[in-house]
Amino acid sequence: MRIAIGQISHETNTMFGPPTPVEEFQRQGWATGQEILERHTGVRGYLGGMIAAGADHGIEIGPTFAAQAHPSGTIERAAFDTMLGNLLDGIRAAGQVDAVCLSLHGAGSAEGIDDIEGTILKAVRELVGPELPVVATLDLHCHSTELMIENATALLTVHEYPHVDSYERGYEAVELAAKAARGEVAPVMALAVLPMAIPPITSFHGPAREINELCWDWERRGLLDVTFVHGYPHTDVPIISSSVIAVADGDRELAKQAANDVAGRIWEMREQFRSNLPSPEEAIRQALAFDGGPVVIAEVSDNPGGGSPGDGTHLLRALLDANQPDTAFGFIYDPETAAQAHAAGPGATIEARIGGKTDPDILGAPVEVAAYVKSCTDGRYIVQSPMGRGGQANLGKMARLVVGNVDVIVGSESHQTIDDELFRLHGIEVSRLKIAALKSQNHFRAGFEPIAAEIIRTDSPGWTTSNLETFNYQRIRRPIWPLDDGVEWPS
Ligand SMILES: [Zn+2]
Repeated sequence: MRIAIGQISHETNTMFGPPTPVEEFQRQGWATGQEILERHTGVRGYLGGMIAAGADHGIEIGPTFAAQAHPSGTIERAAFDTMLGNLLDGIRAAGQVDAVCLSLHGAGSAEGIDDIEGTILKAVRELVGPELPVVATLDLHCHSTELMIENATALLTVHEYPHVDSYERGYEAVELAAKAARGEVAPVMALAVLPMAIPPITSFHGPAREINELCWDWERRGLLDVTFVHGYPHTDVPIISSSVIAVADGDRELAKQAANDVAGRIWEMREQFRSNLPSPEEAIRQALAFDGGPVVIAEVSDNPGGGSPGDGTHLLRALLDANQPDTAFGFIYDPETAAQAHAAGPGATIEARIGGKTDPDILGAPVEVAAYVKSCTDGRYIVQSPMGRGGQANLGKMARLVVGNVDVIVGSESHQTIDDELFRLHGIEVSRLKIAALKSQNHFRAGFEPIAAEIIRTDSPGWTTSNLETFNYQRIRRPIWPLDDGVEWPS
C-alpha cells in the first residue's frame, strides 16, 4: 500500500493586511519530497500523524509538496497557482499510489478564488480520477463547501479547539484512506450548512463541548466521522458559515440524518455562542481581585493566529497603567523595538515605542516608554504545548524589557503565544506570576490551562474581535446570525 501526502494550508483574513506572496510560504513552511518527512516526523501536527500512521501500518508514504503560512491577507493568485502546480506535480511524480491524503486548512482564499480547498480537491480529483480515495484533514475554522464535499472521499476536521487532535486526524486520514483503498469501507459525506458566523469558542468546555458529545454519540452509532465545523468569521467571503460534516459507510441518508441532527442542535443552542467578554481594564481588575495565580489574560481580538497583526497596545497599556508586581506580557509583535533592544544590549535602557505600528487607529497607538533591556534571545524554542509539541518555534529576534513593574516581551514574528516555553526562554516562570498576559484566541488553553489558576479572555478593538458587528462586511451571505435579525434555518 502506498499513499501520497501533501499540504497547502492557510487561514486567510481577506479584510486585513496586504496580499500574501509566495515568499511568505517559502519563508515559513515549504517542503518538497523527503524534506516533508524530515520536518514533520514526530511532530504533533497533521502531517506528523499521517507519517506515523504509515509507519505503524506498513504503508509506504509518498511525500509530495507541503506549504503553509500563518494567517494573513488574501493569497496572491500567482502564489496559489505555484503551490497547486507543485502539489499536482508531486502527486504525478509519486507514481502509482493507492490513495492521496492532504492537509488543508479550509479557510484559504486567493485572489479570484474564495474557496481554494474546493479548487485544490477538484484539481486533485481530476488528476487521480474518480475512484482513488482522496482524504483531507481540515481545521474546524473552515468554510465547508459542496465543491469540497463533491471532490473528496472524506473530510476529517479537527474536533478540538485548541487543535490538540491535528496529529490524530492526520493519522485517521491515512487509516481511512487505506481502508477505502482496500474496499473495506465506502465513505460517503453529507454537509449541513448553517447561516451562522460564530465568534471563536473553545471546545474544551461549554456549548461546543456539548455539540462534540453529540457528534461522538453519532460516531458510536456507526458513523465514520461527524464534526462540528465552527467556521471562520474574520474574513469577508460569501462562503462563511458554521456547519456539520458527517461521513458514513455507504449510507448517504444516514450521513444526512446525522449532519442535520447535529446542525439542528447547534441552531437551537445559538444564543450560547454569543460572546460577551470584558475590556482589558476590567479583565485586569478581575485578575487582581482573584485570590491566587497565575491568572492568564488573553487578548483575543488581536490574535495573530487569526490574522490580526499582534502589535495592538490596548491590553499592554492597561497592564502598564496597573503597574503591578509579578505581571508580564508575552508577547507583542514589534521587530523595530526588538532590533533596538538587541542593538543596545542587556543592561541598557532604551526609549521605546512599543507596538501600535500596523494599525494604530484600531489597535491602539505605540506605547512610548523608557524600557530596561533585561535579556535578548533568538526567539527559537521547541513547542511544549500538547498542540504542536516537538515543532520548532522561530519568532526572530526577541527581547525582555522591563517597564516599571511589568516585564514586556517583544518579538519579530507576528505569532500567537501557545505555551509558557516562550516566557521560560526569557527567564520568566509563569507559575510565579500574578498575571501572564498574551495574545491568542483559544489555542493558548492547551498549554496554559494546566498551569493557570484562572483564565480571562479580553476583547479590545482588533481584527479578530468577537464583536463581529464591528466589521464592515461586504461580501458575506446575508442574512446571517448573529448580525441580522429574523434569520431562519432551515430557510
Ligand atoms: Zn483553527
